[in-house]
Amino acid sequence: MMCKTVSALMGALLLLLTQLAGAQVTALVGGTVVNIDGGPALEDAVILVEGERISAIGSRGDIEVPADATVIDQSGHWLIPGLMNMHVHLGLILPGKMAYELANETDANLALRMAAAARETLQAGVTTIRLPGDSRHVDLALDRSIRKGESIGPRIFSAGEALVITGGHGSESGKVYADGPDELVKAARLQVSLGAKWVKIMISGGIATDGGAIAEALMTPEEINAVVDAAHRFGAKVAAHSGSSIATTVAVDAGIDSVEHGYTLDRKVLQKMSKAGTWLVPTIVVSQPATAPFFERIGSPQWYLDRRDSVGKLHWMALKTAIEENVNIALGTDQLPNEPNDGTTATVREAEYYVEAGMTPLEALRSATTETARMLGAEEDIGRLEVGKYADIVAVPADPSQNISALRELNFVMKGGVVYRHDAASGS
Ligand SMILES: [Zn+2]
Repeated sequence: MMCKTVSALMGALLLLLTQLAGAQVTALVGGTVVNIDGGPALEDAVILVEGERISAIGSRGDIEVPADATVIDQSGHWLIPGLMNMHVHLGLILPGKMAYELANETDANLALRMAAAARETLQAGVTTIRLPGDSRHVDLALDRSIRKGESIGPRIFSAGEALVITGGHGSESGKVYADGPDELVKAARLQVSLGAKWVKIMISGGIATDGGAIAEALMTPEEINAVVDAAHRFGAKVAAHSGSSIATTVAVDAGIDSVEHGYTLDRKVLQKMSKAGTWLVPTIVVSQPATAPFFERIGSPQWYLDRRDSVGKLHWMALKTAIEENVNIALGTDQLPNEPNDGTTATVREAEYYVEAGMTPLEALRSATTETARMLGAEEDIGRLEVGKYADIVAVPADPSQNISALRELNFVMKGGVVYRHDAASGS
């Protein structure tokens, strides 16, 4: 807590100093820039930031630091692109105690809760998130508010409200949702018209609700095809919640962009995804032991815990197989990016699980930087420390491309050239 307060104060102070000095340039000096493509790192580096973007990057001897630049010493630190988390619900409500407590949450309270979660996300080093389904369009309002500079938070790529079929995952019994190609197309267009960059559909059952079995295909091929076609025509991408091999096979044929969770995917469908370039967003952390205390803390009911346990082993196997088959993997947690797990955040624990399941530390790092940027179609702007990219930069006191757990010690966060966290203990 102390650390967080100090870091927030330091961040505010740096921002203030920058403004007072009227300096246009910030220079990060002396750090080691991790080579995100592999190969030798750039040691004793200088990164110049002008406005929101990186204007120069190179060795100290090669880059001249302007006399009036705000200099931030990064010696002893490894610099990487800001982390990204592709499966976040800022307003997440899970069954049990949490759901009871928030049953009468007003729009205003939801907005404030999500704004607070966005600030915490950025503090955790996560500078970009994708939101595959939040409520009441607070996500879209929050995105606009952050971009205007009214609120503090990461870059947001949102799907607006998820499209739910009657009786399926995310539905409540007795309520009518969107069914059939026509209704689903209309619902997809509605989200896109409100500012959604993605459309989210639920093609199989899930863990958190009782709507349909995890391994079953709940939506028809006609329905999936119609949504994907409608979204793509408007330039939006489509994410499918799926634990099912049968449903995923249909979705890959329909040209779906990403498959979320993939709890019970078999080798055959993973090979199909690999060939088609379909993205998998594993959210492995939700079904593994690291998150057991979290589910106890939020008072999850027994049926939920049982369902989670039975899915966990299959989910782990699916992830291992996906890595073996070179499926495109983008990191996502289905928990708040900063949610405490195993002494770190959900985002970092997710990356550690990828290494435990077969990735190299560098591959795990790429799954949260270059790969996520590629999935979002945002490689021009984010995912790498290069001239012209947004200055979304995180620093850690050890090399995460050698040991992914170095991310646990993350102590500096810059987004769009503004420092939001700089822990005093980091010594610079
Ligand atoms: Zn989710």
